Amino acid sequence: MNHTTHLLGFPRIGAKRELKTLLESHWRGDIDEAALLRGAKALRQKHWLLQKGAGVALNPVGDFSLYDHVLDAQLLVGAAPPRFGFAAASLSTAQYFELARGNAAQPALEMTKWFDTNYHYLVPEWQTDTVFAAQPQRLLTQVREARALGMAAKPALLGPLSLLWLGKAKGQPFDKLKLLPGLVAAYREVLAALRAEGVEWAQIDEPILALDLEPEWLDALAPAYAELSPHAPKLLLATYFGGVAEHAARLKALPVAGLHLDLVRAPEQLDAFAVDYPADKILSAGVIDGRNIWRADLSALQDRLAPLAEQLGDRLWLAPSCSLLHSPFDAAAETALDHELKNWLAFAVQKLNELKTLKRGLEEGRAAIADELAGSDFARSQRQTSPRIHNPAVSQRLSRLPANADRRASAYPIRAEKQQAWLQLPPLPATTIGSFPQTPAIRASRAAFKKGELSADDYRQAMEKEIELAIRRQEALGLDVLVHGEAERNDMVEYFGEQLAGFAFTQGGWVQSYGSRCVKPPLIYGDVSRPAAMTVDWARYAQSLTAKPVKGMLTGPITILQWSFVRDDLPRSEVCRQIALALNDEVLDLEAAGIRVIQIDEPAIREGLPLRRAERDGYLAWAGQAFRLSCHGVDDATQIHTHMCYSEFGDILPAIAALDADVITIETSRSRMALLEDFGRFHYPNAIGPGVYDIHSPRLPGDGEIRALLDKALKVIPADRLWINPDCGLKTRGWPEVEAALAAMVRVGRELRAELAQRA
Ligand code: GLN
Ligand code: ZN
Repeated sequence: MNHTTHLLGFPRIGAKRELKTLLESHWRGDIDEAALLRGAKALRQKHWLLQKGAGVALNPVGDFSLYDHVLDAQLLVGAAPPRFGFAAASLSTAQYFELARGNAAQPALEMTKWFDTNYHYLVPEWQTDTVFAAQPQRLLTQVREARALGMAAKPALLGPLSLLWLGKAKGQPFDKLKLLPGLVAAYREVLAALRAEGVEWAQIDEPILALDLEPEWLDALAPAYAELSPHAPKLLLATYFGGVAEHAARLKALPVAGLHLDLVRAPEQLDAFAVDYPADKILSAGVIDGRNIWRADLSALQDRLAPLAEQLGDRLWLAPSCSLLHSPFDAAAETALDHELKNWLAFAVQKLNELKTLKRGLEEGRAAIADELAGSDFARSQRQTSPRIHNPAVSQRLSRLPANADRRASAYPIRAEKQQAWLQLPPLPATTIGSFPQTPAIRASRAAFKKGELSADDYRQAMEKEIELAIRRQEALGLDVLVHGEAERNDMVEYFGEQLAGFAFTQGGWVQSYGSRCVKPPLIYGDVSRPAAMTVDWARYAQSLTAKPVKGMLTGPITILQWSFVRDDLPRSEVCRQIALALNDEVLDLEAAGIRVIQIDEPAIREGLPLRRAERDGYLAWAGQAFRLSCHGVDDATQIHTHMCYSEFGDILPAIAALDADVITIETSRSRMALLEDFGRFHYPNAIGPGVYDIHSPRLPGDGEIRALLDKALKVIPADRLWINPDCGLKTRGWPEVEAALAAMVRVGRELRAELAQRA
């Protein structure tokens, strides 16, 4: 028996983020194009050799990208947006980066999240007259590169339906499917060129199959592949990020040589495929988690796969669930993690070895991999019992919560009255979202403290100086609810994760976010609790400096969950509830310390939405419950704020309202209050602070502009529930612009206040 192992894709950024370094030095002008391309080629080769060393039989080609694989797919079919005026056939590297990053005349392609990952792709732009023309040269070059190294090259392409679906119709709205015939013709040519090159297998990804797909798109699948396959290498159609069981009959009948299924996200879908699996197809079982960092349970996988191996023989292939693009590179490089924790992890390199082991086990029997199984069993049993993971106090506390633990004592109108009784805020109160500029001095102090060059005392004093500065400036500006400024925070999740039990941090666990940008999410490995207060001293110090109310600042449970790698031995909802309780401790401590306005940021609530509509209500229910749980036991008179960026949540307003925050601040200035109209139509019941200053732009808003936004806001939100604030935190800006913008904001607010008083 021989079970082919393969990958859908590999992390292209490199073990030490080499691609980031190459790209950024090239963009800075430190290295020329030739050096960049040489470096990129060397990186690809290194990754292929690494795969080969782990026994991977088919190596993906084309998964590597200088910026984004969706942009590459657009270019493969010659579909760069015409607004740039570039010739598809002779696109230069410089022009490639202009598409990705914009140039003096044209903004970059829009960027959006790749399904429910933290990767962002460049959105194709479709027009009624978009023409396609195959441009396979770059891909062919890489195929030859791989083959020169002795690799069995398996080109990995984003499929035509997914590419088309993921793009946006520009100009007059039109049915994107009208473009499919031309697009398929271009794909046909690309695939024919690969076949002529002697490529045996090509992988073609159709991840949109795991979404709620419109029937027309599903019906377009069979004709498209009937058109492609006669001229193509053997096609492996890959689906991932969810189950496609409801399309099993359709996919089994498709004229392709194999199917890849994500059996990590949707293990149950195997049943729908295994019955009557067509004899002419291979089945690629995606069993190693490409989206998370935990070691696989190899014993359980052997048990699950053995009958399938029996049934399919060589036609069973083994793979990670999805591209390893979403996995960090190598856990072995984590020298600061303790041995026990490190032993629970599998990054991309370790996942390759897991594949290899699974293959051997299935081919040669369990005895052949006895050591590896013992190692995996040991890690699993440790995770099941380790006191570092399991803290009975946490589960007990959760199980003993009263049924109404996620409800405030009184309804919003009563709370609002009690809050106003002590806050005595003027109409249209002005505030900010939390952070003030992270100056070089602040970053230098933090770095020195981390390195041990600055004592804890000196560091505290340095931060207190910053807090005092922020308070004085806010007082001078005339803001009504002040913040301490978040000088001490490196990152809004990391800051909390570092102080919570159950979290760990890696040194090199980077994953690509977009282009050269990477993120390094914390690992939530155990039950979450809060050993000691995390923000209280800073907030209390800030409050001691002023008679104005200071707003305490926390990152919410959903956002902490969403921006971390989460343990896989508990439901995400449960982990989220644990985080909520830890935050609840902080909320109550802040309240006891006299901080009676508390903001719990949830910028990630929208991006946690499941891909399938049927699962969304369930998610919103537990996410909302966790948010409210973090305010458990708070006094009516304590004012809870929340904040969200990215204005795309018009469709989940009922869930946002159900958070029952007293005040919500949102990003609206860019969209010119479009979101606010949704809030108005929905009759959002509590107070709202729509952003009037676009903090993502260095441009200062003029008084007239702010006024226009507020006038618009007043049409949908009653004046007594309207706040004035910027779109988001100000940490990326400089003080001079922040002071100017906030001064304008306060000035316009006061004028409007006076007018409202006169009218009354
Ligand atoms: N309080 C955070 C800040 O001001 C909020 C950041 C965010 O919403 N992403 O920086
Ligand atoms: Zn924000």
